[in-house]
Amino acid sequence: VDAILPPQCLLTNERVQAHGDLSPHAWQMLQFIDRPYCQKCGVPFETSSLKPPICGPCTAPDGFAGALTASDGLDRVRAALVYDDHSAKLALSLKYADRLDGAAALARMMQRAAADITAPDSLLVPVPLHPSRLRARRYNQAAILAQHLATLTQCDLALTALLRHRATPQQQGLSAKGRERNVRGAFRINKESQPSLKGRRVLLVDDVLTTGSTLKACAKVLKRAGAAEVNGLVLARVVQDGKMTI
Ligand SMILES: [Zn+2]
Repeated sequence: VDAILPPQCLLTNERVQAHGDLSPHAWQMLQFIDRPYCQKCGVPFETSSLKPPICGPCTAPDGFAGALTASDGLDRVRAALVYDDHSAKLALSLKYADRLDGAAALARMMQRAAADITAPDSLLVPVPLHPSRLRARRYNQAAILAQHLATLTQCDLALTALLRHRATPQQQGLSAKGRERNVRGAFRINKESQPSLKGRRVLLVDDVLTTGSTLKACAKVLKRAGAAEVNGLVLARVVQDGKMTI
C-alpha cells in the first residue's frame, strides 16, 4: 500500500516514514504550548513572575464571563498547540479530510500537554456531536482523539457519557456570547453513565477550543452529575491578542 500511497506529512505533504507522521518542517511550524502558562486555564504567558501562575480571569469570582474555569465548571484546561493556520490544518485533516492516520500523533501531543492534569483514575469523555452531524460526518473527531488517548494513558474511556440532544447551529462566526447561548442546554448526561461519573476526575476531550463555550457547557453538566473534577484537553486553542504577560 505504501508504494501506491506513500506516507505524507499531515501538514506539509512531504514524504514521511509512516502514515500519520509529521515531517521535521511541520514540527518547526507548529506553536507548541509550553510553560509558563496559567495553571488553571492553560493560557500561555510570555513571562510570569506570579507564583503560582494563574491568570486574572481565573482568579475572578465564579460567574466572571471571561473566565474559562469555574468551581461549578472546568477546573483546568490544557492544549497542545496554539490555534493558527497550521494547527487549524491539522484539526481540519481530522475533521473533514479523513486523515485518521494522523490521530495517534495528535493524541500523543495532547497526552504530553495534559501530563499534569491526567491521573491513572481519570475518565476520558469526548465532546459529543449531535447524531445528525455524526451521521453526516461518519465519526466524531473528539471521540477518535479520546480513544487514542485512552490507549496511550490506560485511562478509562466513556465514549457516550455525554450526549448532545440539541442540534446546535455551527459556531463559526458567532461571538463568545452567541456561542454560549448556542450551546446552552445542548448537552446532557447519558443515564447509564451517571453512576460512573460520581466522584470521578473527568478529562473532557475536544479538538479545538475557541471561546471555550462548548467545554464550559459540558463541564457544567458533568459537575452536576457528580464529577469531582472536570479538566479540558484540546489539540489546539485560540490565544487572544498573542501571549499574555503577567
Ligand atoms: Zn487562567
